[in-house]
Amino acid sequence: MNYAIIQNGVVEILKDLNGTIEEILGCVSGPAEKEDLFILDALDRICAEDVTARFSVPPFDTSAMDGFAVASSRFVKSEAGRTTLNVIGEAAAGCVNGFEIREGEAVKIMTGAPLPAGADAILVKEAAEEEKEDGKWTVSSREKLKPGLHVRRTGADFSAGDVIVPRGTRLNPAALGILASSGYSRVKAFKKRAVAVVSTGDELIDPLDERVAAAGFAPEFGRIMNSNLFLLYGLLNKTGVKCELGGIARDTPEEIAARISEGLLKADIVITTGGASVGSYDYIPDALKLLNFDVNIWKMAIKPGRPFIFALKKTGSRNKLVFGLPGNPASSLVSFIKLLRPALYKYAGLKNPGECLTVKGAISESVKRDPERTTYLRAVISNPAGAEGKPPLISVPSKQDSNILTTALAANCLAEIPPGEGRIESGEIVWAQII
Ligand code: AMP
Ligand code: MG
Repeated sequence: MNYAIIQNGVVEILKDLNGTIEEILGCVSGPAEKEDLFILDALDRICAEDVTARFSVPPFDTSAMDGFAVASSRFVKSEAGRTTLNVIGEAAAGCVNGFEIREGEAVKIMTGAPLPAGADAILVKEAAEEEKEDGKWTVSSREKLKPGLHVRRTGADFSAGDVIVPRGTRLNPAALGILASSGYSRVKAFKKRAVAVVSTGDELIDPLDERVAAAGFAPEFGRIMNSNLFLLYGLLNKTGVKCELGGIARDTPEEIAARISEGLLKADIVITTGGASVGSYDYIPDALKLLNFDVNIWKMAIKPGRPFIFALKKTGSRNKLVFGLPGNPASSLVSFIKLLRPALYKYAGLKNPGECLTVKGAISESVKRDPERTTYLRAVISNPAGAEGKPPLISVPSKQDSNILTTALAANCLAEIPPGEGRIESGEIVWAQII
């Protein structure tokens, strides 16, 4: 729910995060173009079709253990309470055995070997005593056997015709294994889509500029390097989209508009950085209006990342979107993870774009709460399995200003400090999103 606060006598509406994510997701269209990939090139791509099993896996009833294949129903117990069976041969994985087990018989079997005809259970090696005497090979056991014991049935993993990898699934290592187990060496994935990043700010220097590489280079007084672009380049690539470098626009609406236009020729989504708040040189909204976008200037109930621009233009069947992020790298990082990433997952074709991994843990430091906004702190979660009965520890470095990027280097989560009065004390349990 959005809510109003009074700031310097003016009523301001703060946008609720979840509602905003839904609102944005509603405007993003998924991918249409597919490509056929060799599965070794498909890791981390997104599956573009419902892949169905060509055959069942396992394709035959098979032994789950090394031991002896027996017919449990015909199991004959001797007077001593032991059962002794004649071993009629050996079956290894991959062998085509023509064995047929009759009453009082067993076949020595290895894991993965097809179950001989007439067998319905495995007597495991550890519970069996083998004896070879005068050419007679017997096995005995006291273990109680029942049909199906240590047997892997045909189709236990999946049956022929089942959807084994649904459209919109990330092709993770398990997906590649599943495809291979059903005999697929190729898969259709969505073509990687592009997102252009336009950096704005008179103060920015392009780190790729030749003069930067020269010995003794230092930025002129008042200028800084365009670090944010490289952070976003990494975030975009990890999300599964291509990053188009949209260059640096100086702080004029016309130049920003020109750069955004160029970006929109290469991508349906453009991200701008800087110029998104309400400073005198914050021209992103003006630039977007020049390009006839519907512009939303939002104040998000998150910290950092409060200023956020979302602009939309419908062109034919496709929506063109522009996200305006704040210039400070840590604000961009938080806005990206909380707001952009779900949208980009949908853009890339992922079926459940809103899913994220969150854990609870004890915070290492006392932290001041923001009265209205949820604060996201770059943090390191350790002991995630909760060893020794302790909750995971969420260590929060002290440097959390939005211009500080070094504390994001080791960060593996964003700790979530709910809005409110006072402080969260060290040791209190908070949520953290794994990033
Ligand atoms: P702005 O959002 O334009 O008001 O910028 C907020 C702060 O972020 C200012 O200190 C800018 O100098 C800084 N900043 C803006 N763009 C970038 C960038 N691409 N890389 C690093 N810092 C930036
Ligand atoms: Mg600026």
